[in-house]
Amino acid sequence: MVDFRRLEDVDVAGKRVLVRVDFNVPCDDVGIVTDDTRMVAALPTINYLRAHQAKVILISHFGRPGGVRETSASMMKLVGPLSNLLKTDVSFAPDCVGNTADKAVAALCAGDVLLLENTRFHKGETYTAGGAKGYDDGFARVLAAHGDIFVHDAFSVAHRAQGSTSGIAANLPAYAGLAMERELDHLSQALDIPKRPVMGLVGGAKVSSKIDLLKNLVSRLDTLAIGGGMANTFLAALGHGVGASLCEHDLKNTALEIMANAKLANCEILLPVDVVVSKEFKAGAESRVCGLDEVADDEMILDAGPATIDKLADAIDASKTLIWNGPLGAFELVPFDTATVEAAKYAAKRVKNNGLIAVAGGGDTVAALKHAGTADGFTFISTAGGAFLEWMEGKALPGIEILKK
Ligand code: AMP
Repeated sequence: MVDFRRLEDVDVAGKRVLVRVDFNVPCDDVGIVTDDTRMVAALPTINYLRAHQAKVILISHFGRPGGVRETSASMMKLVGPLSNLLKTDVSFAPDCVGNTADKAVAALCAGDVLLLENTRFHKGETYTAGGAKGYDDGFARVLAAHGDIFVHDAFSVAHRAQGSTSGIAANLPAYAGLAMERELDHLSQALDIPKRPVMGLVGGAKVSSKIDLLKNLVSRLDTLAIGGGMANTFLAALGHGVGASLCEHDLKNTALEIMANAKLANCEILLPVDVVVSKEFKAGAESRVCGLDEVADDEMILDAGPATIDKLADAIDASKTLIWNGPLGAFELVPFDTATVEAAKYAAKRVKNNGLIAVAGGGDTVAALKHAGTADGFTFISTAGGAFLEWMEGKALPGIEILKK
């Protein structure tokens, strides 16, 4: 369980509080925000700080301008939507350091909110030297000078040590914001101190992108269900024909090693027992359900079959905690979304009726659960992609290390 500094540990009244948010929100061609989930996630912290008479200074990156000013990556377009969400005027400084930022910070009264321009307009934010990723200390110190306290509220960038995260924390006392706190509390509850039995459900395209994740999970979970394209590599390693399916044949030994480790750690591995195959990778393609050894050479496994869905439901029934990452099939192509949708609906039902703790996160997972109409039915869905995966891999995240007591 992570023991970290929380907002309740500090008196913020009258103080300049520098808050790292993740306002890297999707926008359309003309800069209209198309999904404000990340801005909404920051509201509890901002409202808390305003209610406690802090001067709130928000910093974030947007896109990948790579250290140069790019109009399309300006944070200016977010001032209106943020003001609407907060129901108060938000001021803006067209640079995150320098004269304009200093003046804007100096003009703040208790309860005011200021948004600074994109930190990635400066090379110091993500400075790399000799291949090592890092930030420029000088830039971080200038940023930190805007505040008396640093609040990190962007779990989605917790796996990165950048100027506006670790750099500021090296110069100011750092606390977790309320969104960060929610993430850490839920993820800790799911993986560090789970109610057992605890089950993982990992799907997605490839084993290669999730080797560390699988290795860590088998050492910590009671059951691990593997689905999606990556399950094909495991099936092939066990000698099953997978036809023309997505399969990393060169990783068969890795798959066997993961299964051997699971056995040693008493983690039961669940693989598909039947599959949905098709000759075409497209929505509405003709498909059939078949057994593991009935996949023809020109067929691709694109989803798990009904017997597998039943097995997953039984495993969910036997679990008190579920951690989910990755779809169980090519869920963007109906009807190959069936296993993902059915399993997600089943988990959401168990959350509602049986007190299952179901936590999900990482890239396509949120899209898959939204597609299944179950995003609200899970106990917690992480807003993070890479940071969620690195957490699940058991790695120390720099953005969390700086918050530890
Ligand atoms: P990931 O980013 O690793 O979580 O992978 C997500 C992607 O895996 C989605 O775009 C799915 O369509 C894809 N996927 C899942 N199962 C399969 C499969 N059996 N064959 C091909 N692609 C798949």
